Amino acid sequence: MDQELNRLIRKETKRQNIGVELIASENYASKEVRKMCSSILTNKYAEGYPHKRYYGGCEFVDQVEELAISRACELFGSKFANVQPHSGSQANAAAYRALLPEGGKILSLVLNDGGHLTHGSPVSFSSHDYEFVFYPLDNSGHLNYEGIRELALKEKPNVILAGYSAYPYAIDFKRVGEIAKEVGAYFIVDMAHIAGLVAAGVHMNPVPYADIVTSTTHKTLRGPRGGLILTNSEELIKRINSAVFPYYQGGPLLHIIAAKAVCFKEALSDDFKKYVKQLVKNNKVCRDEFAKLGDLVSDTDNHLFLLNVLDSFGINGLEAQKKLELINITTNKNMIPNDTLKPNKTSGLRIGFAAVTTRGCTEEDAKHIARLIHNFLSNNIDETTAKEEVKNIVSKWKLIEKI
Ligand SMILES: *Cc1c(COP(=O)(O)O)cnc(C)c1O
Repeated sequence: MDQELNRLIRKETKRQNIGVELIASENYASKEVRKMCSSILTNKYAEGYPHKRYYGGCEFVDQVEELAISRACELFGSKFANVQPHSGSQANAAAYRALLPEGGKILSLVLNDGGHLTHGSPVSFSSHDYEFVFYPLDNSGHLNYEGIRELALKEKPNVILAGYSAYPYAIDFKRVGEIAKEVGAYFIVDMAHIAGLVAAGVHMNPVPYADIVTSTTHKTLRGPRGGLILTNSEELIKRINSAVFPYYQGGPLLHIIAAKAVCFKEALSDDFKKYVKQLVKNNKVCRDEFAKLGDLVSDTDNHLFLLNVLDSFGINGLEAQKKLELINITTNKNMIPNDTLKPNKTSGLRIGFAAVTTRGCTEEDAKHIARLIHNFLSNNIDETTAKEEVKNIVSKWKLIEKI
């Protein structure tokens, strides 16, 4: 009926199908997840929580939300879950609110080192409502746990925050949890990026070590766009629940909560474990191929790595991002450790394999993608040739409507 929007959706479908999607935070949700997102559950008002609603007629949506909660708890081994946050940012806002007094102090990693906007950026609510102190990375771009400990002893924060947006290495949640205990701080883990790896048992699970774990459901977890909060504490879940509703949000999006429930069920399957293992392999072989070609790349333990395009190809991150877009490869510019350029240019690209692995990317494809990017950014091949190669790679993959 709506021609204007249908035309745009057709164009976006085509864009997604012809592209090599290497943005590390993106993925393709399954048909079943997308079906829930467009279900009649969107019609229902259900402010509150199961069996404690402000509206009548909630007997079925109560069961929908309870199913999502119990599946989330099963998947991550936590006692309690709140599945209502509309996004990862809102999950973080609620977690802070549950643990901190106004103006309370949080120790985190700064955006430019791989943290998230909600981890204390001046343009986010977080830096206005709370005080942030940032811990540095070491020269190789790894977390320096002893450095975090010393800073925590000095600063006496209310909260230590771990979990990042552009950090290519494994995080020792046990270690950070011990530091938090030692200094009497709460420990929040924001596993937005690595939730899928945690679900598949490929990354250490933060739930046993953190007071609160927040996440998105749409990155490596491959569900609908949304947020999630987990805790093992009966007292904290009460504070979390009132921070989500009524403090920050109104009525929950039951259609999205149903889609989250589907996502958790999918993530409990053996197929999902296989997917995450393949994702990590693809990412690693692509990274290794860049290294073999002599390009400067971070190492990687997870689903993403950083490519230093300034020192490898003599162009900045923004230029590289724009150039790759010409041949339908999507990435994003990203700061690298000790970057000499500003965040609007950057020296690096962030590259991740969550989305392409869902479409069927193999290790051979991942190596091919590294050589293709290397050759195109070094001007060894022209745009037409490079575009043709992208077409050949993508032609073997699943159409996104079929996922
Ligand atoms: C993506 C991300 C978020 C926020 O997700 P939105 O749903 O976009 O608000 C929070 N924390 C980290 C570490 C992230 O990478």
